[in-house]
Amino acid sequence: MNIGLLNKLTVEDVNVKGKRVFIRVDFNVPIDENLMINDDRRIRSSLPTINYCMDEGAKVILASHLGRPKGKPDQRYSLAPVAKRLQRLLNKEVLFVPECVGPEVQKAGEKMRAGDVMVLENMRFDPGEEANDEGFAKALAGLADVYLNDALGAAHRNHASVVGIPKFIPAAAGFLLKKEVEYLRGTVSDPVRPFVAILGGAKVSGKIGVLENFQDKVDKVIVGGGMAFTFIKAMGFEVGDSLVETDMLGLAERIRDNLKKYGVKFYLPVDCVIAQSIEPGAETKIVTTQEIPKGWRALDIGPASCRLFAEAIQNAKTVIWNGPMGVFEIDAFSRGTFAIARAVADAYALTVVGGGDTDLAVHRAGVSDSISFISTGGGASLQLLEGKELPGISALSDKK
Ligand code: AMP
Repeated sequence: MNIGLLNKLTVEDVNVKGKRVFIRVDFNVPIDENLMINDDRRIRSSLPTINYCMDEGAKVILASHLGRPKGKPDQRYSLAPVAKRLQRLLNKEVLFVPECVGPEVQKAGEKMRAGDVMVLENMRFDPGEEANDEGFAKALAGLADVYLNDALGAAHRNHASVVGIPKFIPAAAGFLLKKEVEYLRGTVSDPVRPFVAILGGAKVSGKIGVLENFQDKVDKVIVGGGMAFTFIKAMGFEVGDSLVETDMLGLAERIRDNLKKYGVKFYLPVDCVIAQSIEPGAETKIVTTQEIPKGWRALDIGPASCRLFAEAIQNAKTVIWNGPMGVFEIDAFSRGTFAIARAVADAYALTVVGGGDTDLAVHRAGVSDSISFISTGGGASLQLLEGKELPGISALSDKK
């Protein structure tokens, strides 16, 4: 089954045996000021495609972006530490070349043997990447016979290593991209019911597309996080200094009405944890969402909401979750998010978690092993949930 990618080639449709294979990966990992990698899950997620190509005797060329170096070399964003970590994960020598294109890459490419792995420098060190410069894309394509995209995190970008290279050589999805699209698009297009969507995070504006795309497919929508307070305010309640997008009030009402028309049950927090400032150690109180005093803001859902939401999740067969229930980065406001993480993990359901923050939350809650699929995609995973076409997927070669 390949619902998500429809007629696009995937890695198993192309012959990589003995070929020079250029893999666009997402090695955009968090690196601290001492150039230590704090979390290597994105590197690990690409291993199935890399290992498969190595086993097929391909010469593997890996390319990624890291951070926002703005088109020029900046050692804080070098992929050198990533290449080192990959070497440890593969237990095999990995060659790192400190440029994206040029004579050194050319020479290293010519010397590669079957099963060798080479990591190029951060694609965004070259202004040609973000400008989707044809010459830059052509030079990258010249290094390889086949292109694989395994980077959902970059698939919404019109960048040279995402949409440019496929103009010149056959292009297919890697195992990770295939899986991401199958889960994020396939789950929504044909959900096993009851289907529950949980949305949170800071703003309604960031999640409108998802709400609209889900309205005729979902049985229950649970909204928590900062975005809930725009909905609550739109219902006529005072929410103190909680996050409210005033320009979204009308739309919030319309979304609720539409969901009602489709018979979707809509859940908002009934209580919340409030404080006067978003700081560790700030005084906190638990109040109902209708009693938030002036000068106080809601920063997490309260215990009654956790129970209400957990009950709503309990009988689900499909759950999609995007966005935390509160400012979970601070301990005092993290309980709601962690409670929902546990409820999602405990559901006898296909559970899909997307978005950078939510991914982090399920790991911090210690339940990541009990989630069916955690997307590495960030902003791009949200676009898939919105039902949008991603340029990086459209650019892949069609099946004959
Ligand atoms: P998003 O990128 O829209 O998913 O938003 C994630 C961010 O929303 C996280 O960094 C949270 O700290 C923040 N957030 C969640 N709940 C609230 C809230 N009640 N008030 C302010 N920020 C929040």
